[in-house]
Parts: sequence; structure tokens; C-alpha cells
Amino acid sequence: MSQKNIEGWIASQQQSMVDQLMHLSSINSGTGNLEGLATICDEYYQAFAPLSDSIEVLESKSVQRVNHLGQANFENYGKIISCVKREDAPIQILLVGHMDTVFPKDYHFQSPKIVDESIIHGPGVADMKGGILVMLNALRAFEQVQTDNQLGWRVILNSDEETGSHGSADLLSSAAKNAHAGLIYEPALADGTLVGARKGSGNFTLTVHGIAAHAGREISKGRNAILLMSEAAQTIASLSDAKRGITVNVARVTGGTVFNVVPDQAVCQFNIRCETTGDQQSLAAKLDKIVQELSAREGYSAVLSGSFSRPPKVITSANKLLMEWVGLLMFLA
Ligand SMILES: [Zn+2]
Repeated sequence: MSQKNIEGWIASQQQSMVDQLMHLSSINSGTGNLEGLATICDEYYQAFAPLSDSIEVLESKSVQRVNHLGQANFENYGKIISCVKREDAPIQILLVGHMDTVFPKDYHFQSPKIVDESIIHGPGVADMKGGILVMLNALRAFEQVQTDNQLGWRVILNSDEETGSHGSADLLSSAAKNAHAGLIYEPALADGTLVGARKGSGNFTLTVHGIAAHAGREISKGRNAILLMSEAAQTIASLSDAKRGITVNVARVTGGTVFNVVPDQAVCQFNIRCETTGDQQSLAAKLDKIVQELSAREGYSAVLSGSFSRPPKVITSANKLLMEWVGLLMFLA
């Protein structure tokens, strides 16, 4: 098929893409909804299988994480789709998407609706059920025009992106090593600009242990974990630095039991984002120091879990060139 004809073919897919998006958006695939994720995984399997030389459904790794109550649990995630085309071709492209959304099964926002001819509101419409449909149809178009077998591709769709891709990170990074370029089908900025760089990010859980005591008879024997955590939360928040693009969000604090007991445990969950690997390393060192200082207080101990699971993505010269090519193609279209 010629270039001109393929543009016509892409335009002809509009209605079926809208129908598919409405259907996919109506299936809840919140990261914790493993049943919904299994359904949506099956939908994507059926869609990508006819295009691929081979397709597999892989298990995510289950990962131990500390929750907001300070309990360590193994978290299970939905499955991963991996499919490849022409894996021996000299040029290899990795295309990545995620099947999960941020909306849990019991959240009020569940049904998609067409607002007007250019807007659909629905769970995951932009992030990223729509993105995956763009990827799918771009590949369907490409397979109709490619003739020289010089380019191979691999698609990976994970199910745990919204909680940090902990169960799929190893697979993604090993696949990326074999690719000349990678494209992620997250939404563009509101004005349509493609995103080439983004901050690194980490989720952390700090647990402070103190000493429980009766609030009346022996309060002086107690060590109030909530009070120490309130200091710690302020210290952690003060790591923010607007000029350097460092943001800290103290997101959740829990602790304590009843009125007359000095609380012996408090848990704080927070997110940190920064722009450079250097800042990431220095923030990790500062967090270690904060934890050491908390543990040095008489009668207290502190434990930090979590990590910077996403390194900062900075624009390299190769990224810049790729973005220019994509921009040029959009301009030509
Ligand atoms: Zn996303």
C-alpha cells in the first residue's frame, strides 16, 4: 500500500477506534483489580496476536512492599503481554504501554461517555487505553507499508505501571537494552506536545517506632511515635527545592490506637521527584541520614522502605534526534 493510501486507511479506522476505546474504557482495570486486568489482557491479546510473529502472556513478579500501616506484604500484579515481530531485523523498536489505570473497581468514575466529536471522557481514555489503540493502529498501518523487513518491533504491555512497575521493571529494562529506540504511549501534554523528558520518582514508607505507655500513670516512660513522625514529615518535606525541580509530597500518615495510650508506631508515605540522577543520589543519601538521626533518638527506631524506582529521563542527543524525526513526520502528515 502506498503512503497516500495508508493515510486514507488510518482515517477509515476512526469509528472503530472510538468504538474500541469506549469498550476498553468500560472494563475496569485498576492496578489492584486482577480480574478486570485479566479481561483487558485478553482483549489486547486478541488485538495484537494477528500482527505478531509470537505473543506471550507473562507473570509479573510479586514484590514485597510496606503498606500505610507499616505491614510488609507481597503485592501481586496483573499479567504482562509481550509480542514480537521480525526479531532478527537489524533495527529494533520497543513500544511500551500499560493496561492498568488509577481507578479502582469501587471508584465512582467507571463509564466512558462521548462529550463531543473530539472528546471522550472515561477511565483510562487518555492514560492509556487510547495510547495503546494508537500504538496498535500505527503498527497495523506500518505492517501494510513496510516491505524491506529492516525493522522489527516488540510490544510490552504491563499491568502495574500506576503503582511503579515494580513487578515488570526487570523485563522492561532488559527489553530496552535490545532496542535502538523506545516509544511509550503515555498521553501527550494538553497542547499535543510529545514528552521527551520526565522527572525521576520514588515512593517511600517511613516507619517510626516509639514506646507505648499509659497516658495517665506513666506517660514519661512512653516515646510518642506520632510526635517524632510529625518532625520527620516536616524534615522530609523540606527536601523540596523548586529551583532544582525537586518536589516532595508527604502523602499519608497513620499511627496511634486509643486516647489513653502513647502511640508506639507511626507510618508516613511520601513521593519524591527530581530531574537529575545526581539529585536522586543526593536525596537518597539525605533520606538515609534522616533515618539514622531518628533512630539515634533515645527510645526510638526508624525504618525506611521503598526506593527511587524510576530514574530521571533526561533528553540525550539521540532522544532529541528521535523527537525531531517524529515531529517532522507529524508535520508532513
Ligand atoms: Zn500512564
